[in-house]
Amino acid sequence: SVRTRFAPSPTGYLHIGGVRTALYSWLHARQQGGHFVLRIEDTDVERSTPEATAAILEGMAWLGLDWDEGPFYQMRRIDRYREVLAQMLAAGTAYHCYCSREEVEAMREDQRGRGEKPRYDGRCRQRTAARDGVTPVIRFRSPDGGETVVEDLIHGTVRFQNSELDDLIIARSDGTPTYNFCVVVDDWDMGITHVIRGDDHLNNTPRQMQILQALGARVPAYAHVPMILGPDKQKLSKRHGAVSVLEYREQGFLPDALLNFLVRLGWSHGDQEIFTREEMVEFFRIDTVNKAASAFNPEKLLWINAQHMQRLTPEGLTQHLLPYLNAVGVTESLLAAGPALPAVVALLQERSKTLVEMAAAAAMFYVTPVVGEPKDVEKHLHGQGALLVTLAQALDALPNWEAAAIHSVLQELAVTHADGKMGKIAQPLRVAVAGRAVSPPIDATLALLGREETLARLRRAGR
Ligand code: GLU
Repeated sequence: SVRTRFAPSPTGYLHIGGVRTALYSWLHARQQGGHFVLRIEDTDVERSTPEATAAILEGMAWLGLDWDEGPFYQMRRIDRYREVLAQMLAAGTAYHCYCSREEVEAMREDQRGRGEKPRYDGRCRQRTAARDGVTPVIRFRSPDGGETVVEDLIHGTVRFQNSELDDLIIARSDGTPTYNFCVVVDDWDMGITHVIRGDDHLNNTPRQMQILQALGARVPAYAHVPMILGPDKQKLSKRHGAVSVLEYREQGFLPDALLNFLVRLGWSHGDQEIFTREEMVEFFRIDTVNKAASAFNPEKLLWINAQHMQRLTPEGLTQHLLPYLNAVGVTESLLAAGPALPAVVALLQERSKTLVEMAAAAAMFYVTPVVGEPKDVEKHLHGQGALLVTLAQALDALPNWEAAAIHSVLQELAVTHADGKMGKIAQPLRVAVAGRAVSPPIDATLALLGREETLARLRRAGR
């Protein structure tokens, strides 16, 4: 059965490029009823940090990219790599190389002098005796002629001349295995059938294939996913995308919306733009991913997020909103004292692009807004004391506290007090009650806020 993996190096953030690679790998496994393996490639001890690992795991969990096996850590598999190195030395598919740095450098200088591409010439393949005082590296004995052909699911056939690939160092002189070698042993041991990764790794693939072949391992299928570029078609910057994926949680994006946005960067299904997680799993095909890099479009992300927010049930969206409300000071007890949150969510659902925006708009139902924006107060409340009193009286006299009735009262007052201009009633009312001149329809807002609270805020504003 299908087995895919995501193999991040914990040397920095999990950014959206990495997330999209993880997503494609996860989708392929899920859609094929296979397994998805998470592997942390932490052999670069200098640059790997536990914080980065933790952030990767947290990001994956937030996005619901669940893994069936792992996380495996390469640093815990060193003994296994040593074992395979020993096997290869015994089989003659790898050999000790005693060349000093200076010797290799001199070799390269000669080659450059002859106008050749510098490469290790394999001189230690024949060396039989160890050299005193030199701890050798281990090199892979690569095939001399012919070519290595990558049948990439995204890029198609990519050919590499074996003469271009010299004998790769697979263990350093201190015995530590090198990057390409660890990847090979892991993909082999973990039974990976589809290697889905960034196309910056395409040049590593022929070497990895050769080592797999030397080990008698089955060569997996490869799919090299193109890069994501910034809106300016340049490399992703901190401003767009090159930040931790957890930033998008901070900014109030739904995980499924972010995944939807990322799946569409470089893949399409007819002209469908909005996909549920289930639809992504159903429709995604790794071999229809675009070869070309795609550009990150922040407006599109906002739009997709708004679409996802609108499609959730108010109850479902409420669950996502709660942490954001807590973050702006709307505690559980304030929530319990105010209107039912799903009703507030239903009112705001069509109007908010992010959960942060929605939390800011929902807060007024639970916490009396401090003061309005000074310019709003100046523009809409200044000198309106009498109007606020009239409004309070009319609203107080309403037999039923519900939106349609509130609407009628406001309309009547617009006719009697504002030359029929509803805005002249609604705006002062908004600033008095919501603290700002923007809110959902004022009648529905007041209906939810409740009579008592509405009147209290009107009186306070009139003072
Ligand atoms: N650790 C590599 C990276 O983060 C990925 C290697 C692979 O997928 O083979 O770029």
